Amino acid sequence: MSSNDLSFAGFSGSPGANLPALRGHNTALVLGLLRAAGEEGVSRLELAAHTGLTPQAVSKITARLRAEGLAAEAGRRASTGGKPATVLRLVPGARHAVGLHLDRDELTAVLTDLAGEAVAVRRTPLAFEAGAEQVLATTAREVTALRARAGGSPVLGVGAACPGPLDHTTGVLHRITGAPRWDGFPLRDALAARLGLPVVLDKDTNAAALGLAQDLPQAAGSFGYLHLGTGLGAGLVLGGSLYRGPRTGAGEFGHQTVQWDGPRCGCGRRGCIEALCLAAVARGDLPAAARALGVGAANLVELLDIDRVLLGGRTVLDHPDPFLDGVTEALTDLARTRGATGAGGPVPVALARGGARAVADGAAELVLAPLFGARGPGLRGGPGA
Ligand SMILES: [Zn+2]
Repeated sequence: MSSNDLSFAGFSGSPGANLPALRGHNTALVLGLLRAAGEEGVSRLELAAHTGLTPQAVSKITARLRAEGLAAEAGRRASTGGKPATVLRLVPGARHAVGLHLDRDELTAVLTDLAGEAVAVRRTPLAFEAGAEQVLATTAREVTALRARAGGSPVLGVGAACPGPLDHTTGVLHRITGAPRWDGFPLRDALAARLGLPVVLDKDTNAAALGLAQDLPQAAGSFGYLHLGTGLGAGLVLGGSLYRGPRTGAGEFGHQTVQWDGPRCGCGRRGCIEALCLAAVARGDLPAAARALGVGAANLVELLDIDRVLLGGRTVLDHPDPFLDGVTEALTDLARTRGATGAGGPVPVALARGGARAVADGAAELVLAPLFGARGPGLRGGPGA
């Protein structure tokens, strides 16, 4: 199997995403259960019970996964059938993925194993607004350095996350606030050509939300991830799945107008939550910034009936308490006016796991999640794809 052969998970890597072969789909289900079981592992009978596959089909798949180095025996344990069952586990170091967070002034790059654990992390200044050549050169340098840390095991691909709006399916950037020169640039394909690896591109907020969704029980749970850094956006996980919308433009949370005669926003309109929030941060009025964020969070909860709100991004991480307090207060007010205190109370607010690495870790998940049964458009570009 070559370093870019994703066929074991059913991805052709070609645009238009053929339906994954049944073999690939079932393999992804098995891999997903192996990943979820962690070190403890899972027996073939348990795999059969959870996938609905026959024990023979499971044995065939697990034999192939072992031959490819992706699964290994993890001992034996007593089973109800009498003889002890062999337990299998994922071999996390068998493959790696790269996650990139292209922020306006900084690049964070992580190398993760198959379990999504970071093996190596690099951070370097980046002038995103300076344009493509500088960004591609910096990225290539960092990815080369990370690949050296993979210990010879194949790197499956690169997940790249940057500010939106962008088209996730074509990998083309749209008009990013503060960086209009990128409008129409095919960043995914340019990165794939430069790196020689398959690349998947998504918004920073979506990547983080996808990473955070790995904590959810399968096919359940909804949350909004609000990212306040150099801009403000949201990643939405609804019913267990990342919601991108038909044009992959969902989550432009920061540009909802909350004050129609308010200050001019970088997007060209007035009174956007992002403009109010960033202006308050700039003048050091964090409670006001948190109130603006809270208004948006309450709107989101009203609109989508989500289970929880997670906060992240550099500005929040620098001063978590005022933001947690402000958003909690807004959602408590909302619950009070809706009479919801008897029905579970206000929607809870928490800091997103992962801190400053939430977006880069989630970007690696853009590569990994589809291999483990999560639906996605798959990887594009790179040699042989
Ligand atoms: Zn705006």
